[in-house]
Amino acid sequence: MSSSRKRKAPGTVANKAGPSHIPHRTKPQTTSWTRTVFIAIILVTITGTLYYYPISNDDKETPVEERDASIFSVQDIPGKGKGVIAARDIQQGELIIYEKPLFIVPPKISVSPSSLIHSNLQRVDPRDRPAFFNLSYVNLPPEVDPEEDEAEVALAIFQTNAVAAGGGVGIFPRMARLNHGCSSAFNVVYTWREREGALVVHALKGVKKGQELLTTYSTMRQPRAIRRAYLREHYGFECQCQVCSLSDAESKASDARLVAISDLYSRFGTWSEGSINGKQAIDIVKQIWTLGEEEGYFSERGQLAADAAWVAAAHWDAGATREWAEVGLEWYSYELGSDSEPAESMRALMGDPERHHAWGSRERMYV
Ligand SMILES: [Zn+2]
Repeated sequence: MSSSRKRKAPGTVANKAGPSHIPHRTKPQTTSWTRTVFIAIILVTITGTLYYYPISNDDKETPVEERDASIFSVQDIPGKGKGVIAARDIQQGELIIYEKPLFIVPPKISVSPSSLIHSNLQRVDPRDRPAFFNLSYVNLPPEVDPEEDEAEVALAIFQTNAVAAGGGVGIFPRMARLNHGCSSAFNVVYTWREREGALVVHALKGVKKGQELLTTYSTMRQPRAIRRAYLREHYGFECQCQVCSLSDAESKASDARLVAISDLYSRFGTWSEGSINGKQAIDIVKQIWTLGEEEGYFSERGQLAADAAWVAAAHWDAGATREWAEVGLEWYSYELGSDSEPAESMRALMGDPERHHAWGSRERMYV
């Protein structure tokens, strides 16, 4: 996470709008690459006692291809083109992909998009170019002949597969092989690490050998019809993930849970303006947790627990701050890695809750 990210009070616009630590894929555009990446990372000075979770798989010595092959393989998936299949059982929180960008472009540009992509590709090692051109694409203008116009194809590939990377938008051919799943269907999440200039993909859940690794391309706290319409428009497919394939009755129940979670996040946000007190805010966090459990939707739990710790700290409740920081550490470790900056900030907070920048800023209360 970038240290330039601003602190934002729990449940402010960022939380309502969607996950802050999962950069969304960019939607196809011509002059502006990226959608807003919503930011609500709590960064705390790193001091105090250190706590560790025993998830360490940062094997950066083994060659990339060898390491990848020990974890997954890219295979043809009926109806989906290529996909990523687990080559062995994968533990929750394991690092699956560590990838430097092929190239990054700025979010706003003044030259023609296709010539910008073309010139970036010229600077890429020729051995890496096939990995780029093997990626799929949608929304190629109908007048373009893909056999004739490589620059337009390159642009379409970029627009279909690029993800937010710090202040720019990057292309990561290994990560780009991951297909999409909704709410409970996705099992891996990706994050950009500014200080390392790399994208990391972690297992949000345990994955069995032979299962497909799926990430998510958009905010998932939405009913099936809205999710499908978005994916159809921007990625050109009709989502058939296990959540979208539920029976109508089951799908209705899933939609109701996701909408309820979304509403609860909005209510949680009203704590910032003082409409609800700390106890009520924490109660909402617990309700979100329970609904997520029922839905099988675990993403953003690190951020949610960090926000709960923020509320507890604001109300002078050291015990609750520590407890939520510990929960935050656990889930940040799964989603972002135990060596990520947010995980480090949770360790620091567990060691000294009063160091939270919001400490004692609201009325005293055991939340
Ligand atoms: Zn789906």
